Amino acid sequence: MIIEPKIKGFLCTTAHPTGCALDVAQQIQQVRSGGPIEKTPKRILIIGASGGYGLATRIVGAFGGGAETLGVFFERPALKGRTASPGWYKAAAFAEAAGKAGLYAKDFNGDAFSQDMKTAVIETIRADWGKVDMVVYSLAAPARTLASGETVRSVLKPIGEPFSGATIDFKTQELRSLALEPASEEEIAATVKVMGGEDWEDWIEQLSAADVLADDFLTTNYTYLGSEVTWPIYYHGTIGRAKEDLDRAAGAINEQLKRQGGRADVIVMKGLLTQAASAIPGMSVYLSLLFKAMKAAGTHEGCLEQVDRLFRTQLFNGNQRRDEAGRIRMDDWELAADIQEYVKTHWGKITPENLNQLADFTAYQQAFLNLHGFAIEGVDYAAEEDPEVGMALVFG
Ligand code: NAD
Repeated sequence: MIIEPKIKGFLCTTAHPTGCALDVAQQIQQVRSGGPIEKTPKRILIIGASGGYGLATRIVGAFGGGAETLGVFFERPALKGRTASPGWYKAAAFAEAAGKAGLYAKDFNGDAFSQDMKTAVIETIRADWGKVDMVVYSLAAPARTLASGETVRSVLKPIGEPFSGATIDFKTQELRSLALEPASEEEIAATVKVMGGEDWEDWIEQLSAADVLADDFLTTNYTYLGSEVTWPIYYHGTIGRAKEDLDRAAGAINEQLKRQGGRADVIVMKGLLTQAASAIPGMSVYLSLLFKAMKAAGTHEGCLEQVDRLFRTQLFNGNQRRDEAGRIRMDDWELAADIQEYVKTHWGKITPENLNQLADFTAYQQAFLNLHGFAIEGVDYAAEEDPEVGMALVFG
C-alpha cells in the first residue's frame, strides 16, 4: 500500500515503515560519527525504548557505548491494513541494526506496569547477563492498570486556577484558544500514580530483590521543568506534580541503594516534540518559538543530541551539572537567558500570519511528520510499502 499521513487533531494515525527505519539509521549514524563513548555501562535496560528520549538512549548506549540492551515498550503491530505505530517500526529497525552490528538486543512489547512484564525482564537479565548495570526509566504513559485491576488515567490540567492559552491547528495553521478547568484532587493523584515515581521504585525494588543489580548500578529518569510561560500547564500542573514525585522516588531509591552502592538520577531534559509531548496543551506555540530561537542561536538539539551530550559530558564523568535538588540539568541551552527572553517577548503575540516569522511552525510540523516516519529526506513516499514488519519479542 501507499502510506500517507492521516492527521486528526494532534494525532497522526498512520506511520511509514521505511521512513521510521531511516530515522533510526540516521540517529545511529549520528552517534557513531561522534566516536565511542567511554565508560558507558555495558548492560542497559531501557523502559520506554521505542520513542523519543528512550529510543535515543538505547541508540546512544548501544551504538555509541557498545552496550547490550533490553528494550521495553508498548507498541501496536500492523493489523488488517492499518499501519503499525511508529514506535513499532522504530523498535524493529533498531533490532535489525543491532543484529547486523553484532550487538545483543532483546525486546519486550507490553505493559511495563504489569507484574508479568517485570518478571519476564528479570528472568532474561538473570539468564543472559546475571546483573544489569543501568536502568533507564523513560516511560510516558497515558494510563496505568494497577495490581487490583483498576485503571487510572493521567490528565494534563492546571492546578488551582483555570488555564487559558492557544494551540495551533496542524493543518489550517489557525490559532485556537484553549481553556482548561483546574484538576480535581482525584485527577492529580491519578496523574502522580501514572507518571510519578512509584513504578520506577517498584522496578528497582524488584530487580534488587532478585539480586540482579550490579555494583555501582545506575538508574535514571527524565523530567521536564521548562519555561515560566508553560509552568501553568506543565510544571505547576498535574504533570508537574508527577514530576515532583520523581525527585521523592530518586531519594528513596538512593537510600535503598546505599546498602549495595549505585545511584538514582533525575535528569532534566529540554522540551522536544515527541509522541507524548504532542498531547500537551499549548506546547505547539511554545515549541515553535523555542525552535526559532534555538535554531537562530545554533543550539537546537533533538532527542539524540540531548542524550549524546548527556552520555559524553555528564553521566559518567563524576562532575555533573546539578541543581539544588540534585537533578542533572540538560535544559541549560533551552533556559539560556537570551532564548527565554525571545520566547517571553513573543509569547502572546503569535498570529496565523506571523507563525513562521516570529516562530518556526514549519519546523514543528516537520518534527511531527518525522515522528511518524514522514517527510524524511531520501524516502520515496510514492512507493508501495508493506505495513507488516516483524520483530522477535521475548514478551508480547
Ligand atoms: P515518547 O512518547 O516518545 O515515548 C514513550 C515511551 O514509553 C515509548 O517507548 C512507549 O512505547 C512507552 N510506553 C508508554 N506506555 C507504556 C507502557 N504502559 N508500558 C511500556 N511502555 C510504555 O515519550 P518521551 O517524550 O520520550 O518521554 C519519555 C520521558 O521523557 C518522560 O518521562 C517524559 O516526561 C520525559 N521528558 C520528555 C520531554 C519532551 O519534551 N518530550 C522533555 C523532558 C523530559
